[in-house]
Amino acid sequence: MNVDLAHLADTHCHLTLSTFDQDRQQILTRAKEAGVSHLLVPGVDLPSSRRAVELSQQYSEVYAAVGIHPHNAKTWNQSTKEEIKELARSPKVVAVGEIGLDYYRNLSPPELQRVAFQGQLDLALELELPVVIHNRDAVEDLMGFLETWSKKLPPTLISRAGVLHANYADLEVAQKAIEVGFYIGVAGPITYRNADALRRVTAQLPLDRVLLETDAPYLTPHPKRGKRNEPAYIQLVAQQSANLFQVSMNTIAATTTQNATELFNWNHGNDNNDIL
Ligand SMILES: [Zn+2]
Repeated sequence: MNVDLAHLADTHCHLTLSTFDQDRQQILTRAKEAGVSHLLVPGVDLPSSRRAVELSQQYSEVYAAVGIHPHNAKTWNQSTKEEIKELARSPKVVAVGEIGLDYYRNLSPPELQRVAFQGQLDLALELELPVVIHNRDAVEDLMGFLETWSKKLPPTLISRAGVLHANYADLEVAQKAIEVGFYIGVAGPITYRNADALRRVTAQLPLDRVLLETDAPYLTPHPKRGKRNEPAYIQLVAQQSANLFQVSMNTIAATTTQNATELFNWNHGNDNNDIL
C-alpha cells in the first residue's frame, strides 16, 4: 500500500471476541500495515465492554465503546448501568454502544430491548457521548427513539449524535438519521455480488456523513467472504466506496477518517497526558 495514502479508521470491529485471542497482535499489525490508524471496538455486554476498555489501554490505536447490545438487553439493570457509566470514564471510551433494537433474532424480549435502549440513550446524554446503533428489523421503533432522543442533545452532540452501524438499506431512513445528527457506517456488504440495491443507496449518501467499518469478525468483504473478517480488510470496503462515490482511495480514506474523528473526538481524554 502507498505510504502516502491517508489513514483509514475501522469504526466497528469486535476485537474483544475470543476468535481473535490467538492472533490479536498480528491482526493489529496487519491493520497498521493496511493503513488503519484508528479502531473502534464496541462492547456488547459487560464483559466485552470491560475488555474493550482494556484493549484501548493496551493498544494506542484502539478506542472503545461501552454498552449492552439488544441481544443482551435482559442483562440491563441498575448495577449494569452503574458499571457502564464507570467504564465510560476511561479516557479512550468515545461512545456508548453497541446499543439498539434487534427484532430479527429477538434474543432478548422486545420490551426489554426497548428499556435497555432508552436507558442507554439517556446515559449517553448524561455522559455527553455519541451512540453506536445496531438495528435489525426494527427500523420504525428505532427511528422513533432516535428522533425523540435527538431533540434532547446537548450542544456537544449536535450533528455528532452517533452512527447507524452497517444497516441503512433504505435511503429515506439513512437520510432521516443524518438529519438528526447521525453518521452512516458502510461495511463489507457493499462488496457482495448481489448487493446492487445497497450500492445504489450507498452512492447517494452524503460522503461527509459516511464512516467505514468492518464489523469484524462478521460481514467479511468480497473476495475474502467465507473467512473471518479483520480490520485490515477495511481496504476492500474503502476501495468499493471509492468506486461508488467516484473519488480516489485517498479522498475516501481522508474524508471518512476525518468524519470518524469529528464523531468520536478520538483525542478528547488524552489532552492532559499527551504532550506530543
Ligand atoms: Zn457490531
